[in-house]
Order: sequence, then structure tokens, then C-alpha cells
Amino acid sequence: MVSRVLEGLGVSSTEYQQGDHPVHSPINGECIGRVRLLERDEVAASVARAAEAFQAWCQVPAPRRGELVRRFGDVLRQHKAELGELVSWETGKIQAEGLGEVQEMIDICDFAVGLSRQLYGLTIASERPGHHMRETWHPLGVVAVISAFNFPVAVWAWNTAPALVCGNPVVWKPSEKTPLTALACQALFERVQAEFPEAPAHLSQVCLGGRAVGEALADDPRVALVSATGSTRMGRELAPKVAARFARSILELGGNNAMILTPSADLDLAVRAILFSAVGTAGQRCTSLRRLIVHDAVREEVIARLKSAYRAIRIGHPLHGNLVGPLIDKAAYEAMQAALRQARDEGGVVFGGERCLAEEFPEAWYVTPAIVEMPAQSAVVCRETFAPILYVLGYRDFAEAVVLNNGVSQGLSSCLFSNDVREAETFMSATGSDCGIANINIGPSGAEIGGAFGGEKDTGGGRESGSDAWKAYMRRQTNTVNYSRELPLAQGIVFD
Ligand code: NAD
Repeated sequence: MVSRVLEGLGVSSTEYQQGDHPVHSPINGECIGRVRLLERDEVAASVARAAEAFQAWCQVPAPRRGELVRRFGDVLRQHKAELGELVSWETGKIQAEGLGEVQEMIDICDFAVGLSRQLYGLTIASERPGHHMRETWHPLGVVAVISAFNFPVAVWAWNTAPALVCGNPVVWKPSEKTPLTALACQALFERVQAEFPEAPAHLSQVCLGGRAVGEALADDPRVALVSATGSTRMGRELAPKVAARFARSILELGGNNAMILTPSADLDLAVRAILFSAVGTAGQRCTSLRRLIVHDAVREEVIARLKSAYRAIRIGHPLHGNLVGPLIDKAAYEAMQAALRQARDEGGVVFGGERCLAEEFPEAWYVTPAIVEMPAQSAVVCRETFAPILYVLGYRDFAEAVVLNNGVSQGLSSCLFSNDVREAETFMSATGSDCGIANINIGPSGAEIGGAFGGEKDTGGGRESGSDAWKAYMRRQTNTVNYSRELPLAQGIVFD
């Protein structure tokens, strides 16, 4: 089944059947591929090839670079169904979310195509007569993308489409848990590149491997930007290496996202939003809802409605019309159980959270999503556990709710359900949510590509995707041109 999909996407059996690293589908534990992971010392050759590609690609006019990305977007449209299915096999995402992830790739390609004609600089008023100043943006160099298992293809596209139109080659190290989708993306890209004469060889490369390959990319002086998505632990290890050689990084790390639910909120809307953002993707999104901060006046009612919605959720094979698929692996299941034990020790009352479908899928890790009523924002609540656990905390005063929202080390996404304009505006103000994303009357997950995506504090501070995130993939140059016959100095300095 998976071989058919892989071959349809252009991945040859030598690439996915002949290595010694097994790839297991979280759907049923079956081995769906065997790939070869690179050794640390093999990375340098890929970076050297990328550096060579940069010399040619940075000279191709940006709108032509955009044309390559436009064609890639078209190929993704043609293969959306197969690539989406492969995402489901490799991550356990339900069909709609696998397809959604490919749609996100298509959307960012469209965005980048537009961008390729809009890499605008500035003209700046000079204080000196007969001078003008401007600011221009130039291609940066080799971009390394390190990605997490839970968005195995979208994160690469979020980085690669803008990086390419900005004039840079990309070297991608996907998660070792999801190498097959990476091989498929690369095969589709190479198909487009083969018919685009201006595109140099090795414009896009995949380096399969684990942490050592990521570290080699972080350490290589020819890599100008490392865009890394994953846990805060990973960011803490990687960031000092990149900073030590004064290169750039975009860090997209863990989240611990909250919803403040106020008495004026539309509760029907809120319950639906909670359901999608807390249990969707089996709680394995960086933007998953993990903390519900609900006003005491509606707390009991909301919990009761959530429990009945949770009981009705269809859990099972993600390609068979269910809403919740499996966790990625046994380690994720064990981390979830450890968090639930700790929550009980800290006074929490747990609903759900058990393993299910073990007879049908003995080698896979399906769970019922958990709701945990907590007496306080204790240690376990402050930690990101990458599983469907929703901690519920009560509040009485809006200011107290904002303090709880901001009272964790992560700062990715947040949201408020309220029909009170004062609360809404306060939440989005300088004294409101401290997160990179602050939504009103929608959940914290499911971002569109048009906005800059990322978060503060332990989330790493990076921004990628829309808005002006493209500037991270270019170097800024300030130009001053003297078209006069004099040589006046700035600040009126006379040097005769
Ligand atoms: P992970 O940190 O285990 O791995 C992420 C990637 O980093 C993998 O490719 C891995 O091989 C690599 N890596 C790990 N240690 C490294 C090191 N020391 N140096 C270089 N590379 C290293 O994360 P995961 O389990 O794959 O994904 C889940 C985590 O990712 C969660 O914390 C989630 O919140 C986060 N995430 C964040 C975003 C975001 O945009 N903020 C998006 C998706 C996932």
C-alpha cells in the first residue's frame, strides 16, 4: 500500500527499502520503509554542493525563481491526494489533516510566487546634498531546515518556498521518524527542477539522519541560516552552536497554548474550538490547546459538555473516517501516562487518557484524549506533553486569567473566547497575551500561512511563513550613492 504511494510520488525502492533504519507507521506499527541515515561526516559534501548551487541561483532573477516555485505548487496540487495519504501513514494524522498539510504547502508556494515580485527595499532620504540612500535585499546563502515529525512536509515548505524565491538553496534534515515524506517531496521537487534550466543541481537536498546530522548543519560555516523546528530541548542544544559562529537561526520550538473562556463567550463555538484544538492530531501540534482557563461561572457546564463531546469522538485508523488517530510511538504514550500520574499527584482529577484499540492494533498507541481538572497551574501543567491532555483551570477575575495564560515558559499560541470588546482588546494589547499568536473566538491551532508564525520565550522567538518573515532569508544592504561633485561628510564633519 505505502510502496504504491511512494512509487507514484517518484520515490525509488532503492531509496526507501535498502537502508538499515526502519520506519514504522504509527497507524499499525508496520515497517513501511528502510532508509539509510547519513553519518555526520557525510553532511559536509551536501553543504558544499548547496554552496555551489547558491552561486548560480542567486543570479537568477527573483520572478524566475518564483516561476520554479509556481511549478512546484502545481505538482503538489496534482499529487495532493497521494502525498496527503503518505503523511497519514507516516505520522498517523487523519486524512483531512494529511491533505490539509499538503494544502498548506500549496498555499505557501502561492504566497512565495507573489513575493518573488515583491522583495521590496526602501529609498531613504539622505542628509547630504546630491546623495541618495537605499536599502536592498540580497540572497543570503545556504539554508538548512531541520523539521519535527508532526508537520513532516508543511514546515519544510514554509521555509523552502520563501528561501528559494529569496535566492537560496535548501538542505533539509527531516525528523528521523518521518523520512519517507521527505523523500517524496524531494522527488516531486526534482521532477520540476529537471524541466527548469536555470535551476542548478542540488538546489534542494535531503540529508536523512538524526541529531548528529542536525548538529553538523548547525556547525557548518557555509550554512547561513538554520531554521529548526522541534522541542525546546533541541533548540537549547542547537542555538548556541549557530550563534557561536554568528550565523542566523529561526527557532520554532515547543508550545503550551491556552484558551481563556469567559462568561460572555459563545459556548457552542468554544466547545467546538476546544475539541478540534485539544484532540485534533491527537494533541500532537505545537499549537494544540493544552490549558483551558475557564471562568468559574461556566466551568461546570463547559466541563460537562466537553466530557460528553469527548465520549463521542471516533478514535481509530486515521484513513477510515475517524477524528483521532494514534500517537507517534510508544515513547509518546509513556510520556503521556507519566504526565497523567504526575497530574494526579499534584491534585488533578483525570477523565480519559487510557490506551485503546490495543487488540486491533497491538503495535500502535491509540489513546482516549484526557481532560484533567487541576487545582492550580502546577509543574505538570507548565510542561509541554506532546499528547492529548487538556488541563482545566478556573478563574474569577480576567486579569488573573491573563496572568495564568502568560505564566508558563512557552509563548507560542493563545486565544480568548469572549464577546466583550474590552477583554478582547486587552488580550491583544501590550499587557495581554505574551504569545506570538493571540486569537479571538477561534482556537489556538490551525494557523493560515499569510501571517508570520512563531512564538516567544521558550518557543524560540522565530517567525516563518507569511508577513515579512522572508527577510530572515535575505541579507540587508544599506547603499549610499553620491551623484554630486562634492564629498560632504555625514553629521556635518569637516575633514580638511
Ligand atoms: P525533536 O526536538 O525531538 O526533533 C525535532 C528535530 O530536531 C528532528 O529532526 C531531530 O532529529 C532534530 N534534533 C533533535 N535534537 C537535535 C540537536 N541537538 N541538534 C540538531 N538537531 C536535533 O521534536 P519532535 O518530537 O520531532 O517534535 C515535537 C516538538 O516539536 C514539540 O515540542 C513541538 O511543540 C515542536 N514543534 C514546534 C513547532 C513550531 O512551529 N513552534 C512546530 C512543530 C513542532
